[in-house]
Amino acid sequence: MKAPRLADYAEIVGAERIAVLHRMARRLEGLSVVMINSTRVGGGVAEILARQLPLLNELGIRARWEVMEGTPEFFDVTKAMHNALQGSAVELTPARRDAYIDANRRNAGRLDLAADVVIVHDPQPAALVEFARTPVPWVWRCHIDAARPNRAWWSFLRPFVALYDASIFSMASFARNLPHPQYLIQPAIDPLAPKNAPMEPHEVDAVLARFGLDRSRPLIVQVSRFDRFKDPLGVIDAFRLVRRRDDARLVLVGGSADDDPEGAEVLRQVRRAAEGNPDILVLDLPPDSHREINALQRAATVVVQKSLREGFGLTVTEGLWKGRPVIGGAAGGIVVQVIDHQTGFLVHSVEGLAYRLRYLLNRPQLAEEIGTRGREFVRHHFLLTRHLRDWLTLLLAVTRRGA
Ligand code: UDP
Repeated sequence: MKAPRLADYAEIVGAERIAVLHRMARRLEGLSVVMINSTRVGGGVAEILARQLPLLNELGIRARWEVMEGTPEFFDVTKAMHNALQGSAVELTPARRDAYIDANRRNAGRLDLAADVVIVHDPQPAALVEFARTPVPWVWRCHIDAARPNRAWWSFLRPFVALYDASIFSMASFARNLPHPQYLIQPAIDPLAPKNAPMEPHEVDAVLARFGLDRSRPLIVQVSRFDRFKDPLGVIDAFRLVRRRDDARLVLVGGSADDDPEGAEVLRQVRRAAEGNPDILVLDLPPDSHREINALQRAATVVVQKSLREGFGLTVTEGLWKGRPVIGGAAGGIVVQVIDHQTGFLVHSVEGLAYRLRYLLNRPQLAEEIGTRGREFVRHHFLLTRHLRDWLTLLLAVTRRGA
C-alpha cells in the first residue's frame, strides 16, 4: 500500500481541513523535531508515530523518530512504572530506581537528540531530560492514564517531568501539579492506514476463514495487548454470562509490544480461562497484523474494550470508525469516545458488559444505528488530520512561532 499524502484525506474530512494544516505549517517550515519512545512496534504510541511522521514531513517539518534501548530488566522496571502510574500497588525498590536511571543515562549518550524541539513519549525515556538536555523546548507527552498514580512512583518521576518545558496529556483529568504549561491532545487514528482503510467483504471473509471463523454467528471482538488493565479475563467472564442465553463467539486478539514484558504471562492466563470453550478464540498475532485486525473489527457484531485503566484507547476509535457499536470500560479516554446510547455503552463491571452485550446482540437494527453514529463521531473528532492540527498548534506554542 502506497504511503498516503495529505491530499488523500480531503475526501474523508473535506479539503478545508487540509488547507488549514498547510496554512499553519507555513510558520513552522524547516523546524526539526525528534520524537523518542521505547518501542518501534506494538501499542498505540508506535502506531501513532508511524502514521504521523511522514505527514509532518510533508508539511515541511523535519520530524524524526528515535527509539530508546534497554535491557529486559529495564523494561521490567518501566512496565512496573506503567502499572504504578496507572494506580497499581507496585514496590519502588532502589534497584528499580537505579535500573531506570542507568538506562536513561546510557540512552542519553546513544540517541541523536539534536533538533529544534524534543518530544519524549511516556515514562520510559522521561529521564533523558536529566542527562541530555539541549537548549531547545523539551516536551513530555504522556499517553497513559495518570489520573490516580501511585504516589511513590510519581514522586520519583515528577522531578524529571518538572524539567520539561511543557507536557501533554490525553485527558484533562490526567493533568498533574507541574511547574509548566500542560496541553491536552487526544490521539487519533489514520483512516488510510492498513488497519483502518476500507476492505472488501470478500477480503474480510478470507481473513476470517484463515482463523476458522465466518459470519454465521455473532462475533464479539476485543483487540488489545495482553495487559491486565485491558481486563481480558473480565471479557471472558462476561462472555460466559452472555452465552447462557445467546449465541455468539468471542475473539480476543492480542500481541505483544517490545516494551511490555508481562504480556506472555497474561496471555497464559487468558488461554487457561478460555480452555475447553469452543466459542472463545484467542489469537496472538504478530505486530504487523494490521489487515487481520482491520478485518476482525469490521466483522465484529460488537467491539469491546473493557479496560480498567486506559490512556485513550485507539482500539475503541478503530472499532467506531468501522461502524461498529463499541462497549467500553468507563476508563480514561474511552469515556470521550463511547457516548452511552449514541456510539455505544460504557460499563463498570463484568455483569454490566454482559448486560450490554445481550442488549446489542438482540437489537441488530439499533446496533447498526449506533455504529453509524460512531463512525461520524470519529470523522469529526478522532482522525489524524485533527491530531496533526493539534500538534501544529503545540509546536507553534512551544517555539513561539505562532505569535
Ligand atoms: N494492536 C495491534 N495488535 C495487537 C493489539 C493491539 O496492532 O495485538 C494495536 C491496536 O489495533 C491499536 C493499538 O495497537 O492500534 C493499541 O492502542 P490502544 O490505545 O488501544 O492501547 P495501548 O496498547 O496503547 O495501551
